[in-house]
Amino acid sequence: MRVVDLIGQKRRGLAHTAEEIKFLVQNYAHGIVPDYQMSAWLMAALWRGLSEEETFALTGAMVASGDVLDLSHLPGVPVDKHSTGGVGDKTTLAVVPILASAGVPVAKMSGRGLGHTGGTLDKLESIPGVRTQLSIPEVLAQVEKIGACICAQTDRLVPADFKMYALRDATDTVESLPLIAASIMSKKIAGGSRAVVLDVKVGGGAFMKTREEARALAALMIQIGAAHGQRVVALLSGMDAPLGYNIGNRVEVREVVSLLQNNPWTEARLRSLVCALAGAGFVVAGASSTLDEGQALASKQIESGAAWRKFLEIVEAQGGDPDVLHNAAKPPQPRVKWDVQATQSGFVTHLDAHKIGLAAMRLGAGRATKEDRIDPTAGVVLRETVGSQVAAGNVIATLYTAEESAARAAASQVQAAFTLSPEPLPEEPLIYETLGL
Ligand code: URA
Repeated sequence: MRVVDLIGQKRRGLAHTAEEIKFLVQNYAHGIVPDYQMSAWLMAALWRGLSEEETFALTGAMVASGDVLDLSHLPGVPVDKHSTGGVGDKTTLAVVPILASAGVPVAKMSGRGLGHTGGTLDKLESIPGVRTQLSIPEVLAQVEKIGACICAQTDRLVPADFKMYALRDATDTVESLPLIAASIMSKKIAGGSRAVVLDVKVGGGAFMKTREEARALAALMIQIGAAHGQRVVALLSGMDAPLGYNIGNRVEVREVVSLLQNNPWTEARLRSLVCALAGAGFVVAGASSTLDEGQALASKQIESGAAWRKFLEIVEAQGGDPDVLHNAAKPPQPRVKWDVQATQSGFVTHLDAHKIGLAAMRLGAGRATKEDRIDPTAGVVLRETVGSQVAAGNVIATLYTAEESAARAAASQVQAAFTLSPEPLPEEPLIYETLGL
């Protein structure tokens, strides 16, 4: 078998056998197939597409490129969660302790933020002392002891994806549904869970711009999971506006603390998405029989304080300083706090998640390149959101950063993210549909 022939086959739109895909992925993971040949194959696969069988084979070959976590000895059904990423998406930090507080084990491996979207690891690491680089024995020990961990993916899990994703990023071959589905699901399968809750984001701030694309991606991931014995449920949720009021690392953790402490001023859409995701997790874990029941259990875990206590346990187990969670004034604090005012009066009819995400990144909360360092205290706190009525001069957001020049530049971006209209628009649902239940 020659790689150049496989590239040619795919360029002509022919299907590969599972053996051929295994050969390509294995040899690429072992450094035998060079980047230039894999890049050519990825581009051909993006244009010509991959059949379901090819996508299943690709996922299996990627899983086989590294270690697979064995969680079979844990009591209960281990559940994993994945979001395709968005602005202000801090749901993992709430969903994991909610599930674990009710006895559903979660070994959650998360990523870092890049560009306008944030990453769970950066958020968690904004708590001083938290360690996210856990070895596989540490992951297993923590999940056995307290039922959950939130950590970085080890480089022994799906190394083929690690290499292929970097190549896709550099060759503009990310946006292929089969490649995205195989990339995400290979990590979920190697993570050892028996069930997965997917939050597939749709809208201007997300990868998937339309519901049709998001539905197709979700359906493919559900099929891949089923082919590997995993029960997968997918929620399609809106990402036109940021999720919640806070965008940035420490400020997002603060919003999660407020949610888990059952504070009534938590943004309603954030709370409802968290309860829906955790509720779906309870259903796929067999702890609830319907989504309504699952959501009620999620609310109960928040109201009783059990989820908040579990969050503290996770943070402490990973070396974090819980004082920061009890006392928001504890240093380090951002040097600059900058209020942004509305330039006109009206109803907020649109809030551009992409623009807000870019503004947060420029304030220091995110990375333009993988090498950038982030400022854990930087971010945007929205004072008004979609549906609010504002008058010219009202404060619509507060910016946190280290430099006044960054605040000034981000302020005009935040102002531009708000669309103000004379009349309000009817509220759009946040969750469009649920697939796989
Ligand atoms: N996230 C992933 O893990 N992989 C992709 O291909 C796209 C998003």
